[in-house]
Amino acid sequence: MLVFFAFLLGLVVGSFLNVVIHRLPRGESIVYPPSHCPSCGARLGPSELVPVVSYLVQRGRCRHCGARISPRYPLVELLTGLLFAYAAYRLGPGLELPFAWAFLALLVALAFIDIDTYLLPDSLTYGGLLLGLFAGFLLGRGGEALWGALLASGLLVLIGEYGSLVLRRFRDGPPSNPVGFHQVALAALVGAFGAGYGVLAGLLNWAANALFRRGFHLPLPLSLGLLPLALLLSPKGPLAALEGALAAAGALALLGGLYWAFRPEEEEGDDEPVALGFGDVKLAGMLGAWTGFYPFLAGLFIAVFAGAVLGLLFRRRKLPFGPYLAIGGAVAYFHGEALIQAYLRLIGW
Ligand SMILES: [Zn+2]
Repeated sequence: MLVFFAFLLGLVVGSFLNVVIHRLPRGESIVYPPSHCPSCGARLGPSELVPVVSYLVQRGRCRHCGARISPRYPLVELLTGLLFAYAAYRLGPGLELPFAWAFLALLVALAFIDIDTYLLPDSLTYGGLLLGLFAGFLLGRGGEALWGALLASGLLVLIGEYGSLVLRRFRDGPPSNPVGFHQVALAALVGAFGAGYGVLAGLLNWAANALFRRGFHLPLPLSLGLLPLALLLSPKGPLAALEGALAAAGALALLGGLYWAFRPEEEEGDDEPVALGFGDVKLAGMLGAWTGFYPFLAGLFIAVFAGAVLGLLFRRRKLPFGPYLAIGGAVAYFHGEALIQAYLRLIGW
């Protein structure tokens, strides 16, 4: 009964997500004007707004002008319905279920917006991150959620920084004032000796740049080059040092990203070779908050694997990574712990 209700709710939410996916990247209001045919502009009546069914009844065409309606609309509705039903089946009634539905709805919207525009809107990634932290605290696992968000975004931003360093043939990258990849790398380096020290070092560097209006930047080849050494030499031991470095890098990346989200006019040129979009870093932070760090790792593995398989299948030149991260995140949310356990058994832990 609950599963069936969840499916119907998912269809309706999916119908709303179609509007979000279409309008949010264009900066249009998602509540006004009411739904209309994109071809002829005719306003849709109640019978044309019934998810999936109206598409089938109208045989995929607009009732007014006969224009073809993309099959993606009913597919997004069906996908959301199935995801909502699965969440109800796995979790049962309780406090966690509505949060799980919100998380899945955000993932569907983010995945399709990324497919359309190669962008992951900050309102959805940071909104999802905050909601994930809030849900975590409410469900009594707030520390895990915060730690997961920091480590996951830290891991992705550092993978991106090392990848970009290789693409630039180990030359330093252009600094961005007052905060950018240089401060993230500095936070990681110092964070190997304690996450708090790393965050402090990054913030001090940021503050100094803002205060003196002259950037101080430890060159990336130096900070990223010394990081492995710092991990080995840290008195905390390599694993704890790595967690500290990732958490500090994640904190700086998410805070810096928030700063730049409100300063869009000063965006850097995108002709620099980058290994990973920064939207993926924010999405990783959101996923880590919902799944915890080690399940997120399982999700990341699934994302890379799915990306490789589907990338070969479709042979698209430019592939967004967001949809794969979203798939990995959804799997990790429900099955991350079980996957980690299975993996540990496999290697005989
Ligand atoms: Zn029409």
